[in-house]
Amino acid sequence: VVRTRIAPSPTGDPHVGTAYIALFNLCFARAHGGKFVLRIEDTDQLRSSRESEQKIFDALRWLGIEWDEGPDVGGPNGPYRQSERAEIYQKHAAQLVEKGHAFPCFCSAERLQQVRREQMEHKQTPRYDGHCLHIPAQEGKRRMAAGESHVIRMKVPTEGICKVPDMLRGTVEIPWDRMDMQVLMKADRLPTYFLANVVDDHLMGITHVLRGEEWLPSAPKLILLYQYFGWQPPQLCYMPLLRNPDKSKLSKRKNPTSITFYQRMGFLPEAMLNYLGRMGWSMPDEREKFSLAEMIEQFDLSRVSLGGPIFDLEKLSWLNGQWLRELPLLRFAEAVQKWALNPDYLLQIAPLVQGRVETFSQIAPLASFFFSGEVPLSAELFTHKKLKADEVRQALQLILWRLEALRDWQKETITACIEQVAASLSLKLRDLMPLIFPAISGAASSVSVLDAMAILGADLTRFRLRKAIE
Ligand code: ATP
Ligand code: GLU
Repeated sequence: VVRTRIAPSPTGDPHVGTAYIALFNLCFARAHGGKFVLRIEDTDQLRSSRESEQKIFDALRWLGIEWDEGPDVGGPNGPYRQSERAEIYQKHAAQLVEKGHAFPCFCSAERLQQVRREQMEHKQTPRYDGHCLHIPAQEGKRRMAAGESHVIRMKVPTEGICKVPDMLRGTVEIPWDRMDMQVLMKADRLPTYFLANVVDDHLMGITHVLRGEEWLPSAPKLILLYQYFGWQPPQLCYMPLLRNPDKSKLSKRKNPTSITFYQRMGFLPEAMLNYLGRMGWSMPDEREKFSLAEMIEQFDLSRVSLGGPIFDLEKLSWLNGQWLRELPLLRFAEAVQKWALNPDYLLQIAPLVQGRVETFSQIAPLASFFFSGEVPLSAELFTHKKLKADEVRQALQLILWRLEALRDWQKETITACIEQVAASLSLKLRDLMPLIFPAISGAASSVSVLDAMAILGADLTRFRLRKAIE
């Protein structure tokens, strides 16, 4: 029986790329009467959070993507969170060391850095130099048992070619000498992606892995791990990556990448899913508008084309318009209500407006920007007592750059970013507020704009700042 999975890392906002890959795994499983699993790859403890995990669940569900097994729905192959499977990986890493396919490496960070530096100076690709490869097995064991800090690395062939069977490309040949002696277990006794991914796909009975093309270069390491364990690898399928209209890899600097942005902008989940289904795939009759059920019914991997699909906001908006126009009026009204006239969203805005209005009818003029995508801008809005026009633009650009790098999107952290920009310009936070108000709200003053930025979310805020700079 076919089993597919999506294995997101909960390290930020839910990415449209995750939804795209999830959709194709879901369709593949359903088209073959199989199961679709959600696994959380949270072994990077520093970057992973439960909050981000919840956002991934919410975003996928909003789109209409449901899984048969996962951390929140359970299932027979759990736990489905890698952070809860540490012992399983430790056991498997020990097996590899025992069989001589992997070895403990005791090199210090300084030594590795030194090696790296020398390799860079000689214009070589930085890689592990095999220093600990020759430590006799007994000695390695003794040092590990004595508690010496170490990682576990996998052995890799130094020559020859790995043949990667890909469901879309046929056989892809990758020379072994491009592979580093990959760390499988870190010094904190947690696995890296490679080990955890292979062990879990095997133990969870995954038969087909559809993942982004960005992972193709590292496929040989996965294939080798399956061999080392003596396991049958799943069928592999490397999906073309989504691209910006300029053909570069979709990135948040050029295109909003968070699903929550599209939700907030007022896209219909059905239309969004439809558009993701159009990424590199087409219906046999080439029709643009189709539902998830229709996609599943017609699904065939051979209709995936390898040219990088372009994720274009205008095209998505057009398709969304098609969907909206065909909704029955009652469904349309309900969808609007669900979008932003729902208690959850209104509850976030209420504390900002309650003290400032005497009647409900005053809310809309004050808070319309919470229900907008782009806000209307004019040059006069940005005239500043202290800053010239080009300095205003520069300040906004600096703020945007900082906010693009901000991971933890909260009022306090947003404020800190803007304060840092202010300080770097020898200004105060309050000097920059007159720029931020119009960029975010389209008005010279409004409800607390820092709260508003937190509520609007990272992508919509950045989107508006970008529009203000353009
Ligand atoms: P950004 O450059 O916007 O920060 P990123 O590459 O850092 O994006 P990640 O957080 O690494 O994004 O990726 C999250 C998930 O989205 C991963 O599973 C990744 O495979 C997928 N993904 C990222 N970019 C793309 C893309 N262009 N096409 C398809 N999937 C993508
Ligand atoms: N955790 C990886 C990611 O976030 C999974 C990649 C894979 O599908 O193997 O993209």
